[in-house]
Amino acid sequence: MGKITGFLEIDRQDRTYEPAADRIRHFREFLIPVSEADVTRQAARCMDCGIPYCHTGCPVNNQIPDWNDLVYHSDWEVAAENLHSTNNFPEVTGRICPAPCEAACTLNIDDNPVAIKTIECAIADKAFDEGWVRPQVPDTKTGKRVAIVGSGPAGMAAAQQLARAGHDVHVYEKQAQPGGLLRYGIPDFKMEKYIVERRVEQMQAEGVTFHCNVHVGRDITATKLQRDHDAVLLTGGAEHPRDLEVEGRDLHGVHFAMNFLPQQNRRVSGEPLGDIEPILATGKQVVVIGGGDTGSDCIGTSFRQGAVSVAQLEILPMPPDMENKALTWPHWPLKLRTSSSQAEGAQRDFSVATSRFLGMDGKVTQLECIRLDGQLKPIVGSEFTLPADLVLLAMGFLHPVQEGMVKELKLDLDQRGNVKANELDYRTSRPKVFAAGDMRRGQSLVVWAIREGRQAAHAIDKVLMGKTDLPR
Ligand SMILES: Cc1cc2nc3c(=O)[nH]c(=O)nc-3n(C[C@H](O)[C@H](O)[C@H](O)COP(=O)(O)OP(=O)(O)OC[C@H]3O[C@@H](n4cnc5c(N)ncnc54)[C@H](O)[C@@H]3O)c2cc1C
Ligand code: SF4
Repeated sequence: MGKITGFLEIDRQDRTYEPAADRIRHFREFLIPVSEADVTRQAARCMDCGIPYCHTGCPVNNQIPDWNDLVYHSDWEVAAENLHSTNNFPEVTGRICPAPCEAACTLNIDDNPVAIKTIECAIADKAFDEGWVRPQVPDTKTGKRVAIVGSGPAGMAAAQQLARAGHDVHVYEKQAQPGGLLRYGIPDFKMEKYIVERRVEQMQAEGVTFHCNVHVGRDITATKLQRDHDAVLLTGGAEHPRDLEVEGRDLHGVHFAMNFLPQQNRRVSGEPLGDIEPILATGKQVVVIGGGDTGSDCIGTSFRQGAVSVAQLEILPMPPDMENKALTWPHWPLKLRTSSSQAEGAQRDFSVATSRFLGMDGKVTQLECIRLDGQLKPIVGSEFTLPADLVLLAMGFLHPVQEGMVKELKLDLDQRGNVKANELDYRTSRPKVFAAGDMRRGQSLVVWAIREGRQAAHAIDKVLMGKTDLPR
């Protein structure tokens, strides 16, 4: 373990942020890293618990106490090897994972968990800086061809695992660049895109072929992919957004978050927007409907574009400031969290529903809202209006887009409209066709997508070869 008395002697220290007034002037990452010596001290706090509860929180089964110990003993290279043995993209999760491992850490019982995410990120970043992350080219090729539809974290993780197992892997992506939501959803200020690009380069060197600008089900049939490959893995994400079908929804200036966010990511990376209408928050009063991650990303992007004000409405009641540890630990607690974007100056309001959008000359100018009670019932007489020139709908995603590929393959769906497949073999109702990530489990997290990509790769390799050495 780290230092036996480390958790008693050393206070938790985590990365800090550039001040809000500075960071909203640019789209770069603004996390201030902890020095290597301090990361080593933080790793010393790990108690190497008999039951490492951090493991119960981590969907990719990161061997957290092991690499904490390695970092404490300054054996960074072996720590990086260990970390990569369970997680294909720790530099990604080290930046944007909500860190359920820290919520589950024994030291979180008194609110001072080991700074696991910061240590993870430091190991991954150092591995790149030192040149330890190299392509792992397989010694032999199997001659089997696998098609993967969608290049988000699920598709990327699966592609990397399957290429390393010697298969000929082809990733089909409808967008111009690979990465899925890592590239087009998550803003640059949370994660810069060189992070995705250098992994894509590594994977190309390992034998993965990316076919971008190919919309499966439109430019090429899924049936053809099925015919031409030994296995097809669908990792197309859960892209069907929840809408707000109230009066005035069609006014100009009311947009889905995912029509707004990808535009800014394209601007930052110099990718042309094409002939779509630009959506900008510059000089506008912005209202974001929806209190989750996507809503936060809309807030941070709006401030950086120069919004006059940003309000965020959440339909659910405000959660408590602190969880009841005795009831929740080691599980993910429901408590009030303030994202870095919200802390940049958003006005948040809870228990609010939008009844209609009001406008002038076809453009949105106001929202008419009503407050809700604890049972989400409207409180008569609590109506109020909110000025808005731009409304961003960030109320989550219902399921994958079913038009096109999913309908063409006539795949069975689960009750929520996701592609039906279990977590053991990831097989869909169609022979040779597998599904993983948000397309299978519904809207989720990057770390779950990585886990599903890895597990689906294990399942596919086993079907193709009759056995597999890929970890689950
Ligand atoms: C704005 C936003 C911010 C988020 N922030 C975080 C965060 O901070 N931390 C976190 O853990 N999670 C976050 N998430 C959730 C996380 O991004 C997703 O859970 C994760 O990316 C899912 O991975 P995936 O590979 O299953 O799908 P996706 O990342 O959605 O990738 C699916 C890919 O498939 C492609 N595709 C779909 N259909 C086709 C087709 N027919 N043909 C070809 N290509 C196709 C899409 O273009 C896309 O590139 C966020 C989500 C959003 C929307
Ligand atoms: S639960 Fe926390 S202290 Fe215990 S092994 Fe995991 S990281 Fe270390």
